[in-house]
Amino acid sequence: MQPITSREIRLKSRPDGIPTPQNFEVAEVPLPETAENELLVKNLYMSVDPYMRGRMMDRQSYLPPFQIGHPLEGGSIGEVVESKNHKFKPGDLVLSMLGWREYFVSKGDGLMRIDPGNAPVQAFLGALGMTGLTAYSGLLEVGKPLEGETVFVSAAAGAVGSIVSQIAKIKGCRVVGSAGSDKKVAWLKEEAGIDEAFNYKTTDNIFKTVDKLCPDGIDVYFENVGGKHLEAALETMNPQGRLVMCGMISVYNATKPPVGPSNLGHIISKQLTMQGFLVGNYFHQMPQFQADMGKWIAEGRIKWKDTVLEGIEKAPEAFMGLFRGDNFGKMVVKL
Ligand code: NDP
Repeated sequence: MQPITSREIRLKSRPDGIPTPQNFEVAEVPLPETAENELLVKNLYMSVDPYMRGRMMDRQSYLPPFQIGHPLEGGSIGEVVESKNHKFKPGDLVLSMLGWREYFVSKGDGLMRIDPGNAPVQAFLGALGMTGLTAYSGLLEVGKPLEGETVFVSAAAGAVGSIVSQIAKIKGCRVVGSAGSDKKVAWLKEEAGIDEAFNYKTTDNIFKTVDKLCPDGIDVYFENVGGKHLEAALETMNPQGRLVMCGMISVYNATKPPVGPSNLGHIISKQLTMQGFLVGNYFHQMPQFQADMGKWIAEGRIKWKDTVLEGIEKAPEAFMGLFRGDNFGKMVVKL
């Protein structure tokens, strides 16, 4: 029988600095009857992602801001529980951007059916989904690493960073990563098989550490963090190096305009290329990405970790945890 209500997480107020529980509220809403051509989806897993912080601000960007009093949005995997739409049947698994809610009624637009095969379904929010594609297209299309080159990855034990690090290894690079705990550093070296990793929270001097761990310089810097990480990378970059500007999580909660890198002049003297990219422009690579990832996973060359919180009421905590490094690999919420 169709449920009559669904819980959803709404933006209650816009965060000023680090988001707090007071910025969110749980609401119980009536579910409309499923009409002709519609289907009812029960969300199983939803993603929380650093980019959502930007959408909590009232500003124009590449995605519109979230609205106060409205449910948040984001990637989710759901199961069709009822369908009056001939394109979907009960039991189908679908990827949507209608996370942060337990159920939704849809006409099917924007839903993508997925076949998980042997993979855990939540992997389609992580290594096999948007996160994995970000790592794949950002590294290979923008960074263009060559065999033997050195690739430095920040937030290397996170969802994107852990996949970037391993793809770079597959491409024959020397890979150095930074992460925020000794446990993450150990996983990167022992499980993910990268060459060097360090804990940026306990290192005395990130400039010296990066320089020491990259004795042949850096050819590709995969930027997830910004701030001192970027300055340290710029110091050690080799001439003609490439900086893949994927994210800058260290400044997402800044209340004042962050101070820019003091050593941007290296871009000129070392003839560096610094390129921002958005995964949304690389969805055409999805078939090639899935084919390559499927092969690498089957060969045991790509590993990943998930951090799973349970219950929709935990979604704000999961999101806030991204800024504390609570997640090891991809942060998802099981609904
Ligand atoms: P992660 O899984 O990497 O989670 C975020 C991680 O960032 C945390 O686990 C934490 O790890 C680290 N972190 C948090 N605050 C800081 C800080 N102040 N300084 C240094 N590290 C910090 O998230 P994603 O893999 O989903 O995203 C990684 C980056 O990629 C983000 O910047 C995101 O915005 C960006 N992104 C960009 C996309 C694009 O299209 N351009 C698409 C997807 C993601 P630790 O314990 O190491 O501190």
